[in-house]
Amino acid sequence: MDCLFCKIANGEIPAIKVHEDALCIAFSDIHPQAPAHLLVIPRQHIASIAQAGKEDQALLGHLILVAAELAAKQNLSKGFRIVMNTGDDGGQTVHHLHLHVLGGRAMHWPPG
Ligand code: AMP
Ligand code: ZN
Repeated sequence: MDCLFCKIANGEIPAIKVHEDALCIAFSDIHPQAPAHLLVIPRQHIASIAQAGKEDQALLGHLILVAAELAAKQNLSKGFRIVMNTGDDGGQTVHHLHLHVLGGRAMHWPPG
């Protein structure tokens, strides 16, 4: 399958990795939207949260906890934002489920 994030997960395409475990990897976003901008992705290809099922429940919980651990490691004690863009209206451009972890500046609401 021609999936950018599968290729990053299997090492075919390089990335600045900040975390790896049996279920997921995390790396720096190539176009950071905040001083800290990480992506957390499952090793398994799931196109988006809209395609995830009950069988993915533990994996999805793991991704969120890893995101929070990475935010703590990056000293984002003032806060951070976890975002999961989904589908065209959600602004998803890479169709492999991922969590954005953004921090290091105040975020705006509502988002654009
Ligand atoms: P989304 O728009 O939610 O699908 O997010 C995809 C994200 O992947 C964007 O923030 C991109 O900047 C990021 N991205 C695209 N290609 C790469 C890459 N090769 N390495 C790291 N991040 C990437
Ligand atoms: Zn993939």
